[in-house]
Amino acid sequence: MAKRVPLIAGNWKMNKTVKESVELVLALKQKLSDVKEREILVCPPYTSLYAVKENLKNSNIKVGAQNMYFEKSGAFTGEISPLMLKDIGCDYVIIGHSERRQYFGETDDSVNKKMKVAFENGITPIVCVGETLQQREKNEAFSVIEKQIKIGVAGLSGDQITKVVIAYEPVWAIGTGKTASPQQAEEIHAFIRKLYFEMYGKDSSEAIRILYGGSVKPDNISEIMKQPNIDGGLIGGAALKADDFIKLVSY
Ligand code: PEP
Repeated sequence: MAKRVPLIAGNWKMNKTVKESVELVLALKQKLSDVKEREILVCPPYTSLYAVKENLKNSNIKVGAQNMYFEKSGAFTGEISPLMLKDIGCDYVIIGHSERRQYFGETDDSVNKKMKVAFENGITPIVCVGETLQQREKNEAFSVIEKQIKIGVAGLSGDQITKVVIAYEPVWAIGTGKTASPQQAEEIHAFIRKLYFEMYGKDSSEAIRILYGGSVKPDNISEIMKQPNIDGGLIGGAALKADDFIKLVSY
């Protein structure tokens, strides 16, 4: 089976000034410099991206954005384009986070457009999928996630299909302190991998990395990461403190 390198990614959301961002990454850079066989990623707000990237030069920590628009340039007031992220040197971009879907009108179709444009610009997309509590209670979790994935990755090339990172983030577990149990998370991750197997075959399904996100903390990450189909974490709140993030990366 293809070896999947665990990816531990911090989504800082709308937090941290430039100064605070630089302080945080300098602490991470120093303490995490020896980490091997684990990919480390921070996703600061747009305003901090450049400074963070500059301060992480020659380090083992990658930088990603939390969103982007799918056009290259033009009259789209307030938006950030893939060219701008490429210019900064972003390695990753989070696409379709549930907060974008919930508050800013992100749809599966706009997610799909963004995924394609990210790849065209050499940026790896992390596509977020996950059900609400209401959908889970109505036994709709599998069908919701299947639709999000099928539309989200539609039209990507063979190579891109495998490079995409999928983040399963149950909406009811994000920022609530309620984590999916390792078994609940594993059930969905195994489902996603099986779906990938049916859509793209064995090699792609074994290579694709599937992260879990939703109230991951230093004290629950080990159990989560023991699950065979969980390949890393997308972490919000606990990524904002150097000590916590260091513990998470070193689970
Ligand atoms: C997230 O923002 O993607 C997230 C999972 O947040 P938290 O870890 O705070 O639940």
